[in-house]
Amino acid sequence: MFDNLSGRLDAVFKKLKGHGKLTEKNIEEGLKEVRMALLEADVHYKVAKQFIAGVKDRALGQEVMKSLTPGQQVVKIVNDELTELMGSSHEALNLEGTKPVSVMMIGLQGAGKTTTAGKLAIYLRKKGEKPYLVPADVYRPAAIDQLKKLGQQLEIPVYPSETNMDPVDICRKAQVAAQKAGCNTLLIDTAGRLHIDEELMGELLRIRDVVKPSDILLIADAMTGQDAVNIAKSFDDALNIGGVILSKMDGDARGGAALSIKSITGKPIKFIGVGEKLNELEPFHPDRMASSILG
Ligand code: GDP
Repeated sequence: MFDNLSGRLDAVFKKLKGHGKLTEKNIEEGLKEVRMALLEADVHYKVAKQFIAGVKDRALGQEVMKSLTPGQQVVKIVNDELTELMGSSHEALNLEGTKPVSVMMIGLQGAGKTTTAGKLAIYLRKKGEKPYLVPADVYRPAAIDQLKKLGQQLEIPVYPSETNMDPVDICRKAQVAAQKAGCNTLLIDTAGRLHIDEELMGELLRIRDVVKPSDILLIADAMTGQDAVNIAKSFDDALNIGGVILSKMDGDARGGAALSIKSITGKPIKFIGVGEKLNELEPFHPDRMASSILG
């Protein structure tokens, strides 16, 4: 994750730290290189521009110019601003409401929705919750089977959905079934398509209106970079999502999606997927991520 960006930033900061005092020109040159590094990491150009403006504002202030260790001050400012960019602090899953609550998992086909539903079920069980899995992608029998198998393997109950059932009906009945089974959190694996279309959005809206979810999580593939950001924006405009789970961070060397999503959509990344295994899901902490980028 972020290998290139870390390396590039490290080089810029080494140069800045090499100066005894920093002139405005030193800082401007350094920030130009930071901006290039961000763009190469596939950060949205508007985000990069805004980010640099924020850092520059603070870096040209008295605290840095008069400091005996100005280079280090700039690193600290970049660290703070990176943290802020990704959302400042960890945002938890919203499970508020009358139990059982429902969490809708949405996203395009292949983004990692079904796998993430399994990962989240384990995560919740570890936290003492009682998850209940709901396969609501009736268009792909394989998707229903995949979740049923996951449930069996994890010993977590799964609603017995069939492909001839209506997805909204499945969700309504699953709420009753989950309560009967003594579960408090439904994880609804909704249908995915290759592209966003009105039919898909219409179905998701109907499900949302019936189940009244406590959270709506978009699963987006980090490896698709700015596409993931655009997808998040489209789903958020249509459905007002609660947050994003960025899957496949382990395969994303650049990091553009992780750095741009909060700023472009206003919605936090709540978790990241860091591998195919079911325990490879981590709560997303902007401060820790910023520190790891800066090494
Ligand atoms: P869905 O169509 O959105 O339900 O996607 P799936 O859950 O079937 O996942 C698609 C592929 O992505 C599968 O091969 C998963 O193993 C893989 N996948 C999901 N999450 C991750 C992740 O965090 N890291 C990696 N490396 N692979 C993942």
